[in-house]
Amino acid sequence: MTLTSLSSEELRKFIADKGLPVYRAKQLLHWIYTAGCGDFNEMLNIPKALRCTLAKTTVIRSLRLAARMKSTDGTEKNLFSLKDGEFIESVLMFEGSRRTLCVSTQAGCAMGCKFCLTGSTGFKRNLAAHEIVEQALFTRGRLLPGSDLTNIVLMGMGEPFENFENVREALMKFTSPAYLGISKRRITVSTCGNAAGIREMGRLGPDVNLAVSLNATTDKVRDKIMPINKRFPISELMAACREFPLNPHRKITFEYVMLKDINDTQKDAKRLLRLLNGIPSKVNLIPLNPYAGSRFTRSTDKNILGFQSLLVEGGVEAPIRKSKGADISAACGQLKNSKIYSEV
Ligand code: SF4
Repeated sequence: MTLTSLSSEELRKFIADKGLPVYRAKQLLHWIYTAGCGDFNEMLNIPKALRCTLAKTTVIRSLRLAARMKSTDGTEKNLFSLKDGEFIESVLMFEGSRRTLCVSTQAGCAMGCKFCLTGSTGFKRNLAAHEIVEQALFTRGRLLPGSDLTNIVLMGMGEPFENFENVREALMKFTSPAYLGISKRRITVSTCGNAAGIREMGRLGPDVNLAVSLNATTDKVRDKIMPINKRFPISELMAACREFPLNPHRKITFEYVMLKDINDTQKDAKRLLRLLNGIPSKVNLIPLNPYAGSRFTRSTDKNILGFQSLLVEGGVEAPIRKSKGADISAACGQLKNSKIYSEV
């Protein structure tokens, strides 16, 4: 049995069924989630005999770190093997006092966005909730004391709303004080445009941040670069965003990968402003992170800056995102279980 797959109630029952006092469950929760501990031997306030029994009958986590890479900018990419032999990746980025982990929600991805390396590899399977959570536990256990994980973005491999039940359970563990206790304001779910998923999260919660990977301002272009647009055309997507319940001062982030001669004209910027009308929003402009074999090229600096100016003049915050970890294929759209890691 994998302990991370249990809820706190199930863990309490598991401990009670062994005839042990209930506070042992609380101690285990602390070690697993708050301390990010992956080894029973480190759980010092639990008697050695019990640690041995637990180690014989259970495992703390199911993910195994297969390899790790570090970028020159400090970004870390971790490759995990899953129990069934599949692989996933997560990326830890550092910016000022922020330590942001980008986690995967599926092994592979079925969405097929044309500018994304993950999309070119196809779909393997959904991740279980505990497989999503464990990516953060692993990172928490590795960070130095006093330098905890500050933000989580569900923006790695996969489309979160295609696996929403498990994603919701993982979000509960990320945010609940009994587990990782990270503020909802510091967690972002990113979708490639699943309007039904946006509506469902708006209805059911949790009220974490929403990011939408938009990348085009006409259906003609978006159909070509993001096949999900045929299911949820731009008008339907923007309607779902417009209805998404936002707390005061919160905005929806629109990701916009800048592709030369595809979506980077002044006309596009003006259309984008019209699409965003009435939605509290911010646009992240992402110069394409190229990968071998990509059919797209990055927009020129001139086009990116011109695009940004129009958005800003129109009253929309539009930072140009600096790529993190591009040298280790850890930047947006570059995750693919590549075999270029160093051994752990
Ligand atoms: S951008 Fe996201 S949704 Fe699109 S193919 Fe890549 S991983 Fe999947």
